[in-house]
Amino acid sequence: MRYALVNEERHEAEPGLSGTCPGCGQPMIAKCGDQRIHHWAHRGERTCDPWWEPETLWHRNWKGQFPEPWQEIILRDKSGERHIADVRTELGLALEFQHSHIRPLERQAREAFHRNMAWIVDGTRRKRDLPRFEDGRRSIRPSPWQGIYTTPVPHECFPRDWLDSAVPVFFDFAGTDPVGPRTGVERRLLWGLMPGRADGHAVIVALDRQRLVLAARTRPQIVAAHKIVGTLDARFRAARVQAMIEARRYSSVWAWRRGRPRRRTARF
Ligand SMILES: [Zn+2]
Repeated sequence: MRYALVNEERHEAEPGLSGTCPGCGQPMIAKCGDQRIHHWAHRGERTCDPWWEPETLWHRNWKGQFPEPWQEIILRDKSGERHIADVRTELGLALEFQHSHIRPLERQAREAFHRNMAWIVDGTRRKRDLPRFEDGRRSIRPSPWQGIYTTPVPHECFPRDWLDSAVPVFFDFAGTDPVGPRTGVERRLLWGLMPGRADGHAVIVALDRQRLVLAARTRPQIVAAHKIVGTLDARFRAARVQAMIEARRYSSVWAWRRGRPRRRTARF
């Protein structure tokens, strides 16, 4: 963890410092080696939050985009189990920065626990995630709204374990690499897979880092996911109905031109 309590105040890890866990009150040791990012660890083997994952520089960079009092917020579920939100904003939006693999049941449990949350997934941990997205991006179609796209084949763009998430999942394919205006769009932007489908199509929202952070800091949600998916769902359905009507009209015109009204051919 980034913070422990030292003399009742949140404190970052420094060599030789000892503190207590703000969640469970157990003693914590400052780990300030060369291998891993400086952090606090419970003196025992286990952390008090079963969902906690070891922090990386990537986690720290992301958390650092938010005010310190919003980082590592300790919450309790109905059974009293403690969970630490990586970030929880003033408006009640939880952000979880996920580097390691997460089991589907744990992912679902965390989504149900936070409800208003978004995942930001480190898309650099697995070698195949970026190449998959680069190939799969060909399937992505623009929508009438800038930065909002759809694809009928989300599994060709994103890792399977995130496809049926109930909350927005933003993929960060840059990781800790610096990003500039000349960085390719795949890595410069965060690609957010929205929950649910619009008439079978997955909806993707692309945001640059600054806009994502600004939205998370100032709005109850990063994007109005359900509204976006619902609006596109209605458009896809309307277009499908229209196409069916037109197909019927053309087929009857075609039948009439050949002098064989459809009605007659349908009689047995
Ligand atoms: Zn603890």
